[in-house]
Amino acid sequence: MTAILTLEAGREKSLLRRHPWIFASAIRHIGGKPRKGDTVDVLASDGRWLGRGAYSPDSAMRVRIWTFEQNEVVDNAFFLRRIEQAARARQHLLEHTNACRLVAAECDGLPGITIDLYAKVLVCQLLSAGAEKHRDKIVWALRKLYPEHAILERSDVQIREKEGLPLLTQTLHGEIPELVEIEENGLRFLVDVKNGHKTGYYLDQRNNRQLVANYARDREVLNCFSYTGAMAVYCLQGGATHVTNLDVSDSALEMAARHIALNGLLQERCTQLNADVFAQLRAYRAEGRQFDLIVLDPPKFVENKRHLTQACRGYKDINLLALQLLKPEGILATFSCSGLMPEELFHKVVADAALDAGRSVQFLRKLSQAEDHPVLSTYPEGYYLKGLICRVV
Ligand code: SAH
Repeated sequence: MTAILTLEAGREKSLLRRHPWIFASAIRHIGGKPRKGDTVDVLASDGRWLGRGAYSPDSAMRVRIWTFEQNEVVDNAFFLRRIEQAARARQHLLEHTNACRLVAAECDGLPGITIDLYAKVLVCQLLSAGAEKHRDKIVWALRKLYPEHAILERSDVQIREKEGLPLLTQTLHGEIPELVEIEENGLRFLVDVKNGHKTGYYLDQRNNRQLVANYARDREVLNCFSYTGAMAVYCLQGGATHVTNLDVSDSALEMAARHIALNGLLQERCTQLNADVFAQLRAYRAEGRQFDLIVLDPPKFVENKRHLTQACRGYKDINLLALQLLKPEGILATFSCSGLMPEELFHKVVADAALDAGRSVQFLRKLSQAEDHPVLSTYPEGYYLKGLICRVV
């Protein structure tokens, strides 16, 4: 028997707008004894059927909706249909790359489920109680759609703790190679799917790397928060004279050096520097060192709304420093991957940084996440990656 949750009066509004989350405070009554991850039906206070979702008793986000169609059952075929539909929307990207995000969680109608494709390896993140519950169905669907692919689970993400789930990494099918080689826009990269950040590589920056590289010809580039140096490879391929990769991770920088060789580029055109960006930008300023193009792609600074002010300070600090280090007519490509950072606020922070740096700055282009990270119209939270290409006048 499917358990039935009835909402408090007035709390049906977000569901009627097809937003997929229900918080504990919105629930008036629970009929039945649903366990973690079980499928439940959600009714409005007047008994009207609203949606069917996964119950998560340990989380403030108590239900995530799988379907708004009353006759849709959450079974094997459901997962196959949803994943197939998401994969179809990415098909055209595979002409230019063999790596993409196949399933972008809520934005593809599969809350808590992220699936990335890297050549012949699929990497899943199952981040909610519902996703955890249906692991076998998800694997079944993936094996049906991708019979030759290996499947790795990278559920080693803190957010699982909020759902009362352990952090884990496990092979779900086949043999997972230590490194998976992918090809993106004619360039080659090695992805450490078992140990790399997130699922191993930042697919969301694919288009932005190309756009930024358009400004790299004959320029000296500082690539801050470089990770494995994908941006550096694009910039060198685009004609940059030299790129400095700056990161605090030795393993990421080692991989960045391998990427230079793998793409037939000259090692002397790329320096790997292990240093803290905040400190290193200050050191460069003290030395009077300048660059033509600076990339700032920091990790998420905003973990929750209370951190927003502090995060703004962090973004302002690095943007101000970077703008001071740019030669006249230099280019700054600056990003925020914090979903909780509103786009307008990010633009304001960069504008304020320009003012304080005493530089006159033009915004040339607004950037966002690649299209395999779509934003569902009913779920604006799906929009998280924002960027600006700026020119110092
Ligand atoms: N631009 C990269 C992704 C950046 S991820 C790409 O497109 O592939 C963020 C990176 O910032 C990580 O590699 C992390 O090691 C690094 N990092 C985090 N804090 C840092 C700091 N204070 N100084 C330098 N690097 C930092």
